[in-house]
Amino acid sequence: MGSRGLCLQGKCSRIESVKSWVEISEERLAENYGVLTRAAGADVAVMGVVKADAYGHGAALCGPVLARAGAEWLGVADAVEGAAARAALLAAGMDRAHQPRVMTMSGMLGDDADAIVEHDLTPVVWNLRQMELLAAAVKRCGRTALPVHLEMDSGMTRQGVCIEDLPEVLGWLAAHKELVLDGVMTHFASAEVAGSEQTRVQRERFGAAVQAVRDAGLRPEWVHAGASSTVDNDIAEGSLCRLREVAAGVGARAMVRAGIALYGYCLPLEGAGARAAVCERLRPVMTWKTRVIDVREIAAGDAVGYNATFVAKQAMRLALLPVGYSDGLRRELSSTNARAGGWVMVRGERAAIVGRVSMNLTVVDVTGIAGVQVGDEVVLVGDGVTADDHARVAGTISYEILCGVRADWRVAV
Ligand SMILES: *Cc1c(COP(=O)(O)O)cnc(C)c1O
Repeated sequence: MGSRGLCLQGKCSRIESVKSWVEISEERLAENYGVLTRAAGADVAVMGVVKADAYGHGAALCGPVLARAGAEWLGVADAVEGAAARAALLAAGMDRAHQPRVMTMSGMLGDDADAIVEHDLTPVVWNLRQMELLAAAVKRCGRTALPVHLEMDSGMTRQGVCIEDLPEVLGWLAAHKELVLDGVMTHFASAEVAGSEQTRVQRERFGAAVQAVRDAGLRPEWVHAGASSTVDNDIAEGSLCRLREVAAGVGARAMVRAGIALYGYCLPLEGAGARAAVCERLRPVMTWKTRVIDVREIAAGDAVGYNATFVAKQAMRLALLPVGYSDGLRRELSSTNARAGGWVMVRGERAAIVGRVSMNLTVVDVTGIAGVQVGDEVVLVGDGVTADDHARVAGTISYEILCGVRADWRVAV
């Protein structure tokens, strides 16, 4: 690893403490965005979701890349992430007039209202408490009107307004000029399940809610629903067609909100007839690397790591890595003699994790890999060992693996 590439923000003095780092392929990110927009079709916009620090990829790197790739919207969780996204876009040379719109998707508390207005974020709202806080902030900041997007709870039961409470919310919006209804949206709970009855019901309720918005005399510019799996699952579902119809019914533009697929991953589709529309064409954006810090030979009978869960059956060569579960290398990747765990890539070959992953250290088997030396680069996530591979062994989803990577250094490659 050259020190030049890691000399970020004038922090070169910290170079000695870099245990692991993340390389982000801006080219792959832009390509994945292109794959999604082509699959969605010209009349369905694709939001670039960069919440949770762009799923661990670094929102300050990814936001501007997606903006240059044509994203009209970036999606974040909250006002803090939204303000950071604005700052990153500005730092990348885009003034406010040329920046994408930024949507806060995961609710708000009172303290967030001023920041939302000040940073020109577009909040997802669904109740009067949120709308009153925002209206007060609009008045305080001397703004004329703040565009908001209304979330419908169509059946996920997490956030959003239920159809029964819709009249009250729409009535409030009609009576208050501080907020303008710019969009209506919903979120599907089972988008990766082909032929899902839950999604069918959610779509129906959403269609009815959008109609109710129209009947109330409101004219949103945007109607959006669905995530990466909605695009990937579309061959079976035709859900993008229905989204287009619902949007066209109120003269709005349709949008789908993609996160995980931008970073090169998809949920495995489930259900009869499922066929992935885009998954094969996406490439992982993140490579997580570390370096070998020691190599040693052990003899048959030597026990490796905490609690001797692995005992060598023959002589082996082991490499020591300066990463562990505190860095996001999941402890479920540990091995025992009875059960293989995860692996990493050393010199382009698989090196199995041996014994327990500990907090800051992990041991891997390099017996069959010639010439391994201290300082060699090791791929923890990347070509040959994907976040899906980690997720399978750890019993989770790629999202959690990617978000869980705790490496301070992120380098654009
Ligand atoms: C995170 C999120 C998405 C993106 O989901 P992916 O499965 O990563 O594509 C879309 N919409 C909402 C509301 C979200 O919170």
